[in-house]
Amino acid sequence: MAKEKINFEDEQVRSNYRHTTSHILAQAVKKLWPDAKLAIGPAIENGFYYDFDMEHVLNDQDLLKIQKEMKKVIQANYPLERFELPRAEAIKLMEDAGEPYKVELIQDLPEDATISFYKQGDFTDLCAGPHMERTGQIKAVKLQSVAGAYWRGDSSKKMLQRIYGTCFPSQEELDEYLKKIEEAKKRDHRKIGKEMDLFALYDEGPGFPFFLPKGMVIRNELQSYWKELHRRRGYEEILTPLILNRDLWLTSGHWDHYKDNMYFVKIDDEDYAIKPMNCPGSILVYKRKLWSYRELPVRYAEMGQVHRHELSGALHGLMRVRTFVQDDAHIFMLPEQTRDEVVKIIQLYDDLYKLFNLPYHIELSTMPDDHMGTEEEWSAAENALKEAIESIGVPYVINEGDGAFYGPKLDFHLEDSIGRTWQCGTLQLDMQMPQRFDINYIGPDGEKHRPLMIHRAAFGSVERFIGILIEHFAGKFPLWLAPVQVRLMTVTEKFTDYAQEIAEQFEAAGIRVECDIRNEKIGYKIREARNERVPYMCIIGEKEVEGKILTVRNGKTGDQTEMTPDELQQLMLEEIKSKAL
Ligand SMILES: [Zn+2]
Ligand SMILES: [Zn+2]
Repeated sequence: MAKEKINFEDEQVRSNYRHTTSHILAQAVKKLWPDAKLAIGPAIENGFYYDFDMEHVLNDQDLLKIQKEMKKVIQANYPLERFELPRAEAIKLMEDAGEPYKVELIQDLPEDATISFYKQGDFTDLCAGPHMERTGQIKAVKLQSVAGAYWRGDSSKKMLQRIYGTCFPSQEELDEYLKKIEEAKKRDHRKIGKEMDLFALYDEGPGFPFFLPKGMVIRNELQSYWKELHRRRGYEEILTPLILNRDLWLTSGHWDHYKDNMYFVKIDDEDYAIKPMNCPGSILVYKRKLWSYRELPVRYAEMGQVHRHELSGALHGLMRVRTFVQDDAHIFMLPEQTRDEVVKIIQLYDDLYKLFNLPYHIELSTMPDDHMGTEEEWSAAENALKEAIESIGVPYVINEGDGAFYGPKLDFHLEDSIGRTWQCGTLQLDMQMPQRFDINYIGPDGEKHRPLMIHRAAFGSVERFIGILIEHFAGKFPLWLAPVQVRLMTVTEKFTDYAQEIAEQFEAAGIRVECDIRNEKIGYKIREARNERVPYMCIIGEKEVEGKILTVRNGKTGDQTEMTPDELQQLMLEEIKSKAL
């Protein structure tokens, strides 16, 4: 077999590769369990699956057996041969093969559809393609799990067995990927959140997270830094109501276009909605007075609590919730101020993301087919965005035609410590909402003009950002964010007084300190502190009390040193002040 380079960066190639592997999976399963009936087997994000209807209940041991069988198919290096059949013959072929699900799939195809099959060795599958040319091109496969899945995703239909797997052009790439998943599992914010006692989700409020005392510390530190950053950069803070009436949401367009994601209430027999976005409230604040062009831009920042309906199946820890605080801001400006404002926003985001060591790239989404406003307005807006990004030198890609109908937008994609990317920041130019709400400013000519509006959020959702930070840092937060910054642990109860004395000193210096003076073994106390990711763990015994020192263990490095309480205090205060990572 000639050595060839498979371009796995290419989305189509990747999809063909994964999909071909799903055929190999099906061939292997049919070989081992000839009575298995085939349903569907698509490529998905990160891999592929295939659904089977079979008597035998698959277990993990079976997955290894199937994998071995797949290897044989790969080694045989069968070509994938395509052939087409007229409808009746296609149905007959699948009926003869005892594949009722395939028959059903064919019957659902439109009358004039081309019906194609792919054959590899003695195995034939109904499929539209495309695939790789030969089974031997598949190099590294891992079957990951079995799960139940209803035929056609319909719970009134039969439950099938779905095998999930992934594949790569080399064993190294597969290993690297599996290691990354393993690492991601260890960092799962739901698991770490529980261990650190940060937040909770209860059946009483699906998708409505509770923040616990220690989670609130992180949240408040983040928010107060955010507020300071915005104050320094010329934003004024506002807070608008959670509930506003129907008229407002009709004007904004949400009542007609966003209704499925909104929650509603009745007050005095009138319809109200719980806000899914902060924009209309912000516009009312702008509209309270007449502005001169000299006063623009006006920048209103708002930590705004929004509620958006998500299907219960989509909810996921803090990452996907039904209520969250958006670190929102709305900027009202003259059209010619666009470039400068965008530069300032990117600089602000840059400050924020750098603080957490989250490198990022930007995606610019441009004019969609279905858009409001003229092409001139769009190209002026898009050029202002491009110039702004280029002047800062941040890498960016363009998503042609992906903008919202009311204006182009920028998305900021952050890369975490294990190489996953998260879309957090957004910046949206809006040429539409100012018109809907008829907002104005008085220009140099004494006439009314329409301002442009920017919607922007840096974290996106505060809750989700905290979830991302938990996974990014694996719970080992920088000291300024750590809920407990230092814990003093006594070896026996004899040393309680010394511990409490030092705790008082630290507390007076503004350090978040906890004392563990319980009658427990020191090893147990240390394990617990480690599990809670306490950055500085101090051990207090005979030696420490007599020498008026502390034995300090660094939670990040594992180093253990002796120092005086004053020295540790100094060290922590500096680390907090510098917001060191
Ligand atoms: Zn196929
Ligand atoms: Zn907005």
